[in-house]
Amino acid sequence: MIQLIKCNLLCLTLLLLISCGSQKKIIVDTKIIRDTVYISNTNPKYHFITEANLPGYVISKENFPSVAFNERVKFLVLHYTVSDYPISVKILAKKGEVSSHYLITDQPNDTIDILVSEDKRAWHAGVSAWNGTENLNDTSIGIEIVNKGYIKVKDSLIFTPFPSYQIEKVAALSKNIIDRYEIDPVNVVGHSDIAPLRKQDPGPLFPWKELYTQYGIGAWYEEYDKEYFLSQYIPDTYPYSSPLEFQKALQKYGYKLNLSGEWDKNTFLTVRAFQWHFRPEKADGIVDAETWAILQALIKKYRSKK
Ligand SMILES: [Zn+2]
Repeated sequence: MIQLIKCNLLCLTLLLLISCGSQKKIIVDTKIIRDTVYISNTNPKYHFITEANLPGYVISKENFPSVAFNERVKFLVLHYTVSDYPISVKILAKKGEVSSHYLITDQPNDTIDILVSEDKRAWHAGVSAWNGTENLNDTSIGIEIVNKGYIKVKDSLIFTPFPSYQIEKVAALSKNIIDRYEIDPVNVVGHSDIAPLRKQDPGPLFPWKELYTQYGIGAWYEEYDKEYFLSQYIPDTYPYSSPLEFQKALQKYGYKLNLSGEWDKNTFLTVRAFQWHFRPEKADGIVDAETWAILQALIKKYRSKK
């Protein structure tokens, strides 16, 4: 404990020294961790048990539960449907090609549709990867949100906003799922995070920051970490990191991409997916100082060995 305090004092001293040297204003904030999910791995929360029913035998729960187990569900994946409610139902419940566990309507009512039981595998993620895990259908719950998606105007994508009553439903449902399965904040992702080369949903208008600050859902960076990393750069210089350095950082946070060492098309699409999630005001696929600072702040908070 004493060593930890010393380290913190040292870090703070270093921060102030660096701040003085670069003539930049550093906002030293009180550290507030809003992530509410505590990963215990020893706290079973059974909402139901699937077990054999054998006439003539007793299935005894005397030694239940074993301490050696964990949840199969590790990820929560959020999507938009690109269509209205009736067409969404047709596609996700009737056609037999794709599905999701839940469907959030765009109507101001209290209804949330369940389409697939949580203990079954819904077909929503497709070819996907996050932090070394592939094919996330196996290990995730999928929520589809009724939303028209985007229209293309020249080279720009114009996305459809989400009404606040719809986001409230998404938040209530997500929080319930996250708490029951103890899903790690970094494992609450958009479809575009886990398939950045082919998917755009839920897009830059999806309020990730609001979900984090108001409901404690998902991952978000600490502002003072971003300011610290921003202070390391001289304004208006480019590039802020080498392509390889940035690709490695994206990979460390969870994105799957080739370490090509080039600002190639796949890197552009992955940077854009990252910006849609964490810096939607400037989602152009181009790495600038703020994008780089945000990525480093996220890695510091969630992917550094403590
Ligand atoms: Zn999707």
